[in-house]
Amino acid sequence: MQIKSLIDGVLVSGEGPIAPVINPATGKIIAEVPAASAEQVNAAVAAAAAAFPKWARSTPGERSALLLALADALEARIDEFAELESLNCGKPLHSVKSDEMPLTIDVIRFMAGAARCINGTRAGEYVEGFTSMIRRDPVGIVGSIAPWNYPLMMAAWKMAPALAAGCPLILKPAELTPLTTLRLAEIAADIFPKGVINVIAGSGSTTGNALINHPQLEFVSLTGGPATASRILEASSRSLMHTHMELGGKAPVLIFDDADVNAVVEGIRGASFFNAGQDCTQPCRLYVEDKIYDNFVADLAMRVSSIQVGGPTDVDVEMGPVISARHLDHVSGFVERAKSLRHTEIVTGGHRLDRDGFFYAPTVVANALQQDEIVQKEVFGPVISVTRFKGVEQAIAYANDSEYGLASSVWTKDVGKAMKVTSELRCGITWVNTHGVSTAEMPHGGMKASGYGSDMSVYALEDYTTVRHVQFAHR
Ligand code: NAD
Repeated sequence: MQIKSLIDGVLVSGEGPIAPVINPATGKIIAEVPAASAEQVNAAVAAAAAAFPKWARSTPGERSALLLALADALEARIDEFAELESLNCGKPLHSVKSDEMPLTIDVIRFMAGAARCINGTRAGEYVEGFTSMIRRDPVGIVGSIAPWNYPLMMAAWKMAPALAAGCPLILKPAELTPLTTLRLAEIAADIFPKGVINVIAGSGSTTGNALINHPQLEFVSLTGGPATASRILEASSRSLMHTHMELGGKAPVLIFDDADVNAVVEGIRGASFFNAGQDCTQPCRLYVEDKIYDNFVADLAMRVSSIQVGGPTDVDVEMGPVISARHLDHVSGFVERAKSLRHTEIVTGGHRLDRDGFFYAPTVVANALQQDEIVQKEVFGPVISVTRFKGVEQAIAYANDSEYGLASSVWTKDVGKAMKVTSELRCGITWVNTHGVSTAEMPHGGMKASGYGSDMSVYALEDYTTVRHVQFAHR
């Protein structure tokens, strides 16, 4: 198994503390990964800085060709990567292969194409005797910090636009799930010039902390939680580096009484429990219109209770474990506190599964009220709440009453109502009569405490560039 960090084109053993990597489906150790030390972080940043002038001046066509080679190399190893990812995360193997790997590869291919057609405004004479033009140049040396929920896909979402824009990078995978990213580093080392991609293993508080506080870093992109975002902003208050944040979410789902209830129930059964609910766009705050509330909750409870929970290769498995013992405690704590309220009802689930690994039953907490913790705070697990509402205005008010603003969905057959509601929601993504369908062409990013900046789409590529004004005098 590849457990070394990639620094300046060479795979090197980390010289920091060794951390076990655990299979969440069994609780057993699958690898012991040495972290990159502070000196190695310095070496990685120095390598990226040394690579910057040449990489920034490479042509879009050259960068595109290397990204396409990386995508091809991943595609040729889909089975290997899917197996490693499901081993490290406990995810159903078939789902990694057919849901995650295609989007991971496609984002790299999309950025390979987008690199060659970044739009700009035209050049012109805005002052008599002078010609002005706009350039979009690479933003600089990038630090990328990835989470554990979709380790390889998040690595691709971070790496591809940075590389396409001409930025060398230092990528740190999450300490719980470094394995596919470290293997990707090994493959990338054979494709990209040395120093352009550096991958450093290690925990947030040591390796990550050394990275974000490095004075030569010019841009940090995080997908992670709000506490990490605050650490990065503290560091940027000293170094003035630029930041890009994909943070938490608490997606509202507005279900009106004219919605196709079967479609909603099936949509929620699939999307809310995909990846054991460990998804920043997870539909988790359900608001159901009064008239259909009771029947909807009964149907939902029945369908959610049929979800097949198991290990990555179990027959018919639909949902795996959560990522760690600690996270299992975190998820279970939310449900226990919700149970202790008089008005809530656990209509299915509400308990750990009695087996090895970190399994929690798919859970629906009904009759939740807007101010309840289960409605306001991110659980990031296989737990959703259902709240009753009356009328469009209350639905919108509930949906927007959240510190987060990442994803949302609206379920109705009334196009006018859908238009009004989508226009008033304060979220980066709104789906209508679906939830969770992602594509490389469309931006993924949030408002409010969900962060700023986009992953995927041309907007992500633009985020890794700086707009420059160059002016020529006519003399
Ligand atoms: P986390 O913030 O704890 O960890 C994310 C990454 O940050 C890890 O690599 C971690 O090692 C690193 N990190 C932690 N402390 C650090 C520090 N002081 N300095 C530098 N790096 C540090 O988050 P998590 O629990 O691993 O991930 C779950 C969170 O990520 C949830 O809040 C979820 O909503 C969010 N998320 C958001 C998106 C999105 O696109 N908006 C996607 C996936 C996950």
